[in-house]
Amino acid sequence: MRFPLALSLKITRHIVKHKLRRTPKFAMVLQLEPLHTCNLTCTGCGRIREYSTSLKDMVPLEQCLAAAAECDAPMVSVCGGEPLIYPKIEELVAGLRAQGRIIYICTNGVFMRKKMREYLAAHYQPSFEPQLQRLVSEELVTEKEAAQIRASDAAARSKITIAPSKWMYWNVHVDGLEYTHDLIVEREGVFKECVAAIRMAKILGYQVATNTTVYKESDVQELEDMFKFLSWLEVDGHTISPGYDYDAAKKDMVKRLGKDPTEFFLTRDLTRQKFKDIQRWGEMFTIFGTPVYQEFLAGKRELTCTAWAIPTYNVKGWKAPCYLMTDGHYPSYAEMLGQVAWEKYGVVNGVARDPRCENCMVHCGYDPSGALGTNYQAGDNWKNFKYNFWPKPAPFARGGEVIAFNGVSVGKGHLAEAKAAVNRELAGAKSAFARGGNALDSSSPTAPSSGGGCASGTGSGTSARDELLAKIRSDDKTISS
Ligand code: SF4
Ligand code: SF4
Repeated sequence: MRFPLALSLKITRHIVKHKLRRTPKFAMVLQLEPLHTCNLTCTGCGRIREYSTSLKDMVPLEQCLAAAAECDAPMVSVCGGEPLIYPKIEELVAGLRAQGRIIYICTNGVFMRKKMREYLAAHYQPSFEPQLQRLVSEELVTEKEAAQIRASDAAARSKITIAPSKWMYWNVHVDGLEYTHDLIVEREGVFKECVAAIRMAKILGYQVATNTTVYKESDVQELEDMFKFLSWLEVDGHTISPGYDYDAAKKDMVKRLGKDPTEFFLTRDLTRQKFKDIQRWGEMFTIFGTPVYQEFLAGKRELTCTAWAIPTYNVKGWKAPCYLMTDGHYPSYAEMLGQVAWEKYGVVNGVARDPRCENCMVHCGYDPSGALGTNYQAGDNWKNFKYNFWPKPAPFARGGEVIAFNGVSVGKGHLAEAKAAVNRELAGAKSAFARGGNALDSSSPTAPSSGGGCASGTGSGTSARDELLAKIRSDDKTISS
């Protein structure tokens, strides 16, 4: 099975319950963004641009848990920003588990090893030794870190940590092999760190998924090689979605990178070209989702957008109409469902009801459509059932032959172009690029310095902000070690 049985049954029960009750709209996956701060500045990321004035704000823990309880989605994707920067991420994961939810932590991977060392330190006992020694021998943990884990004190032992669970996935952002990924995340070394974090997670028994966004410059053969490599690393599943041309990301691309957005984002036709092999990939690799959505991506059928099934909750409330596009924020999921004119969005029979939807085929708008049967065709249910309940594809045995570490992007890609653009257009301005060549300044979050402290309006306090900044600083040490 692509998913552990208990998880598949939970999702199936949720759909059947609402179908029997004839609930017109209900949530399948909550995209929970407890904060938008990030330690990276990926090209094409709409989040850190759209919410650039509230990057230091955070949703209080209780509010996050209340949002999950209100929409009652069986799955919660904790994203952001970088969710591992959220000061109460461990409590959030524990609280969501207590509610019985399936949890995805959508991370860029940079802080994962630190979080897993904290788990080891909190739970260390002699029976951990074989795993710990393997981590040291594979250089995923240093001798010094292993000694610290063995000698963990009461404070480390009492810490709430993120433990392996069949109900939780690390969902690591990987957009290609080393060169491409580091180019897109605008920072060298991130791909290597992701791979190290994935290997460590698998040794410790965590479930790991990856999520990939496909852009115009993504190479189809490289994507297949990436899946081969990740499959060989025994990653448990993958999501893949076409890049959407957010307004905020488009503006950023013009202003900061000096690039034409049409060179980067996919049109519908281009999406279909890039995803022409998606069904074959679905047979070869553990790609999550439904074959119906894959047929849509490959251009073999149309679907109607069901963005209400993957709602987004963040510092401003329930974001409507979807994860990508913002026409408003609502105080509750119920109000959002009731007040948004859903019939004005999406593409129906090839005609965009809103021009901004024209090129959108993203999974958060259309993957639930495949599961919910909104454009049902005979055999769809069986197809979806078979895809998800049949044995999953075996790890790709020759994935280790893929040349995954194919060179860092420094000086060759978006970052170099960004530096040139910044130097040309924003001479003297305090931008991350102008400060000294790193995509991330080690003493500051990626947020512009405007916009108040991270406690504003959230009740999180100065200590939360200090902790957040300290984590970002330690990121630099982690990645350079
Ligand atoms: S890791 Fe990249 S895509 Fe994810 S929130 Fe940070 S900048 Fe955006
Ligand atoms: S089609 Fe895409 S952009 Fe439009 S509402 Fe649906 S998910 Fe959002």
